[in-house]
Amino acid sequence: MHQRKPEWLKIKLTTDENFKDIKKMMRGKTLHTVCEEAKCPNIFECWSNRTATFMINGSICTRGCRFCAVTTGLPTELDLQEAEKVAETAEQMGLKHAVVTAVARDDLKDGGASVFAETIRAIRNRTPLCSVEVLIPDFQGNWGALKVVLDANPNILNHNIETVERLSDRVRSKAKYPRSLELLKVSKQMAPKIPTKSSIMIGVGETYDEILQTMQDLRNVDVNILTIGQYLQPTKKHLKVEKFWHPDEFAKLKEEGVRMGFDHVESGPLVRSSYHAHEQGQAAGRI
Ligand code: SF4
Repeated sequence: MHQRKPEWLKIKLTTDENFKDIKKMMRGKTLHTVCEEAKCPNIFECWSNRTATFMINGSICTRGCRFCAVTTGLPTELDLQEAEKVAETAEQMGLKHAVVTAVARDDLKDGGASVFAETIRAIRNRTPLCSVEVLIPDFQGNWGALKVVLDANPNILNHNIETVERLSDRVRSKAKYPRSLELLKVSKQMAPKIPTKSSIMIGVGETYDEILQTMQDLRNVDVNILTIGQYLQPTKKHLKVEKFWHPDEFAKLKEEGVRMGFDHVESGPLVRSSYHAHEQGQAAGRI
């Protein structure tokens, strides 16, 4: 049965010249965005404002998280020009802050870390003033791969915890809650100057106290920026929404997060990890 969305989740579907332009650029260079692949509800707003999140290492993910709309399967080969093409597009778009994520490539020895590093460097070469945020997978706990990314010196290292510990196995079966925390902790140990960021997606059956516990777990490994958003079911095959959290509850969570000591908390029904990412980094005083 179709789940009726509350009023605060209704979005305006408008495509303007900027939207069409971004679409053309991405298609022209056969690049992928998580905006499209993950069916992000903010695509009309973000693309109209000429921001987008690049998705590298192909478009097919080796994992099959039950909340995510990205295609799962056996990945295609890597596009060796991808890093350069992303940098070129970031330049054409006039980005001041580029967000780069990837499908999880558990089939590759380094999980695709070297392509992250190449992409960071390629963007820096072309547009030295553009900050770069990477949203990385867990590399199956291969911290050597994490180091490859950190050595390229991204402005923000983002890794999403996604959900509370009790629901983690159900929501993202191939990931592990403690491993995600460990990644964020190791990142800080290896590169203390690179701020870390994480995201919790709520509405999959967690309690308020469990959200607070997850926030505290992230603070305990010194995560600097936190985003909290409402889970929306991308297709009928994906996990059902268990609860639409009210905007007032998101506001309360933000207050709690600030109290816990995060530099910045972005919390709201339509907030996504990369939503207003530039402003988030600036508000945290990190870029
Ligand atoms: S919130 Fe992120 S993923 Fe969604 S459209 Fe905006 S940039 Fe893309």
